[in-house]
Amino acid sequence: MNRDTSITSIKGVGEKTAKLFQKLDITSVGELISHYPRDYETFREPVSIAEAKPGEVCAVYAVVTAIPNQKRVRNLTILNVNIRDNTGNMQLTFFNMPFLKNVLKPGGFYTFRGIVQTRGGRTSVPSLKIMEQPKIYSLEEYRKQISQLQPKYALTKGLTNQTIQKAMKQALTYYEYEEEFYPAKIKEKYRLVSEKEALAGIHFPIDFEHMAEARKRIVFDEFFSFLFYLRKNKELAAKLENQYPMYETADTVRFLEQMPFALTKAQKKVWQEIRNDLGSHFCMNRLIQGDVGSGKTIVAVLALLMCAANGFQGAMMAPTEVLAVQHYENIVEYTEKYQLIFKPVLLVGSMTQKEKRQAYEKIASGEANLIVGTHALIQEKVVYHSLALVITDEQHRFGVRQRETLAEKGLNPHVLVMSATPIPRTLAIILYGDLHISVIDELPANRLPIKNCVVNTAYRPKAYEFIAKEVAAGRQAYVICPQVSEGEMDDLENVVEYADKLRAALPQTVQVAYLHGKMRPADKNKIMEEYAAHNIDVLVSTTVIEVGINVPNATVMMVENAERFGLAQLHQLRGRVGRGEFQSYCIFISTKENKETMERLQILNKSNDGFFIASEDLKLRGPGDLFGIRQSGEFAFRTADIYTDAGILQQASEAVEQLLTEDPLLENNDNQKLYAHFSSGTVNAVDFRTI
Ligand code: ADP
Ligand code: MG
Repeated sequence: MNRDTSITSIKGVGEKTAKLFQKLDITSVGELISHYPRDYETFREPVSIAEAKPGEVCAVYAVVTAIPNQKRVRNLTILNVNIRDNTGNMQLTFFNMPFLKNVLKPGGFYTFRGIVQTRGGRTSVPSLKIMEQPKIYSLEEYRKQISQLQPKYALTKGLTNQTIQKAMKQALTYYEYEEEFYPAKIKEKYRLVSEKEALAGIHFPIDFEHMAEARKRIVFDEFFSFLFYLRKNKELAAKLENQYPMYETADTVRFLEQMPFALTKAQKKVWQEIRNDLGSHFCMNRLIQGDVGSGKTIVAVLALLMCAANGFQGAMMAPTEVLAVQHYENIVEYTEKYQLIFKPVLLVGSMTQKEKRQAYEKIASGEANLIVGTHALIQEKVVYHSLALVITDEQHRFGVRQRETLAEKGLNPHVLVMSATPIPRTLAIILYGDLHISVIDELPANRLPIKNCVVNTAYRPKAYEFIAKEVAAGRQAYVICPQVSEGEMDDLENVVEYADKLRAALPQTVQVAYLHGKMRPADKNKIMEEYAAHNIDVLVSTTVIEVGINVPNATVMMVENAERFGLAQLHQLRGRVGRGEFQSYCIFISTKENKETMERLQILNKSNDGFFIASEDLKLRGPGDLFGIRQSGEFAFRTADIYTDAGILQQASEAVEQLLTEDPLLENNDNQKLYAHFSSGTVNAVDFRTI
């Protein structure tokens, strides 16, 4: 078996199981073995029935005392089994497992593992310990489980953890492991285990140390391949001459004067850096980093204006249609209001063929000098007339490879990317290795700090009242419901039902609408437009509005099930309010009231600063929490986390650096093997999120 072998060649994986695997995007052996566990389960030594603590998962080793008692309640078969050890009794309940009646014989000893509960326990009757649906093991089977951490995989309905484990064991046995591709020097210096050891250790670790070693190799590979790619690219980028030199004209100066606000000091500094780049000998390759609401868009618009004034075309690319449309309309508004020289066109997937064709024509003829859209902008069909500047908003949502696409078209435009991901500078330098970095580190002065509260669900009626009050005062609100994964509740229904509930709770005059990821893009755009035009007061949405959306009149952000989100994501969501002169509020509703959840959410309460939040979140999660809540809106590697694995990131960066310094063309035999590995299409360690 190799990476490309179909999973149907694994024993026990037939058509039906293969279809289920497909739901998890697993069709080949390669995809299966890189389906890493989400977590591990530890099996502890069995305890006596007396020691078994209610509320906890325990295993007990006990004897079946009587013939199991079976009854039917409607269409449910309930099997009660009494067990005993020398410290006490327990009752087991199984649902719809009638066959167990013949398996669990009186006098037989088994290990039962499940959540311990109690029943009864009032006055005369002593309480009885029970377990529902415990797993059954022979003592020997259970012993085997104890000696290992048991992997817990992401599942889909119909596919059990056990099925995946079985398939995984087979795949790991018959898989032809790749020859080591790192030169021995790197492998030794960074103490990397082999691919085989890594896969064994990540799927079936003996203990945490074993797993950590395995994980290190996997994380190192992900960082290494990403940085290797970046660095190779940098060699190209660094030598690019400025083919589109630009000079500042009266257009930008006049726009700056007429604009309703003055740039902040930080915005001015970044604008200066961009102007310098555009006029210099070399092609611009710059990142603007700035927290949500710091005002990145206006700087981008200035750069595009300078580009147009020099007779070139500029393009602005956003990760979602909703955001692209918003940028487009914003620019159209500026163009009309300040008589700017923009001739903008929009290009997004949901446009009709005819509309697209018209846009293509304007782009090819040069009639349009500013093109706003999604990644439709860099697709094959688009032929540019004189593309000289490409701006990517919310860069972390795209892959690094987009620039290559443009280069392949024979264009080497100036590149400006914008991101709100709070990354400490040391990490940013590594991760954005090929970019110059500008930071907008202050918010516009007119902003009032957002007021936050973290509350439980009992607060809901009050929150609704508050929303009604803000709406009555002319403001707008967002309510975010989490996306619910498959097997729980359908996210579509969730938002729709919630909107109904909210309509009933709010005064009739309040306009409530909803938005979710499964709606057609055109419908999403329509809702967003209506919201921006204030024809909608309250928008119930999933996190589709997370990035970039700017409706300064919105002052309330209420997040349901806040505990389900990463702090960085909550911070992004909060960034949707407090974008204008009005006092804004954020209400985080948590259904979990345990200490850790509350403590984590309290961080948001303490600060509105993205950098602070990211670093505090990291402290709380601690380095041991390897599978903690994934941060959204940042470098999304498969396994690696740029914060918790910052140390490995440094190492991988050092390794790549040294390799390319010693052997820039990778002529050395050992290094060629590595090059072949990381340039082959099968390696997909860089797994950027794209929408
Ligand atoms: P982000 O950095 O999150 O992309 P935006 O560029 O969308 O933020 O800006 C958020 C809001 O702040 C917009 O309504 C924008 O017009 C406004 N804004 C930007 N710069 C300033 C400034 N210097 N003074 C006042 N408001 C500003
Ligand atoms: Mg933005």
